[in-house]
Amino acid sequence: MNVQDNYQTIRDNIDNICKRIGRNSDDIHVIAVTKYVSIERAKAALDAGVKHLGENREEGLNAKYQVLGNLAAWHFIGSLQTRKVKNIIDKVEYIHSLDRLSLAKEIDKRANKPIKCFVQVNVSGEESKHGCSPDELDHLVKELQSLSNIQVVGLMTMAPFTEDKDVIRACFKKLKRLQEKIQALQLPNAPCNELSMGMSNDYEIAIEEGATFIRIGTSLVGNESGGV
Ligand SMILES: *Cc1c(COP(=O)(O)O)cnc(C)c1O
Repeated sequence: MNVQDNYQTIRDNIDNICKRIGRNSDDIHVIAVTKYVSIERAKAALDAGVKHLGENREEGLNAKYQVLGNLAAWHFIGSLQTRKVKNIIDKVEYIHSLDRLSLAKEIDKRANKPIKCFVQVNVSGEESKHGCSPDELDHLVKELQSLSNIQVVGLMTMAPFTEDKDVIRACFKKLKRLQEKIQALQLPNAPCNELSMGMSNDYEIAIEEGATFIRIGTSLVGNESGGV
């Protein structure tokens, strides 16, 4: 496991895809998802040139933040309980799991600066997945306009757990269409220019379909299953 080599491979893949489809590879931001790995492994990602770190639990975020705090932009990518907002809010620049008004109100109340939020959408409709339904999205984003510390920078989704690339692609295409709908509303607090989609197994498809933030754990920093 060499994080530097992994990152180079991923960046090369990004460059090749972008060249092929006419996108600018500078628009693709790699978030190293460090939930399965040690602080040392997270540090190795930063040394390799990664700028964004993502954690899905309060404990993991706090442990790594204590050591690596100002070296990275921090992303909270996991489902977030309202009562935990106060424990993470001063550390994160981005939250990828905003999916309900009650959570947004708590973020708005606890934050002392605008937080860049992705509204998580359950595009695939799987019951196990978090996120607001595509039908609720418009309404939720409009409601968020009264909350000055909530900035809707984009939408986030997780593809269904399947090997079927067509199913995965359809999910990402749908998120792109939802993004265009939100952009058309021209809401001041919801520019919605970003798309957080794509993980180790499907980031290449996600980039083809418009991802700007990809969240990569296993194929970048590995899985030690004993991370903090
Ligand atoms: C764990 C996780 C990832 C990274 O998954 P890998 O398959 O290891 O790349 C991305 N996004 C979210 C929300 C996650 O929980």
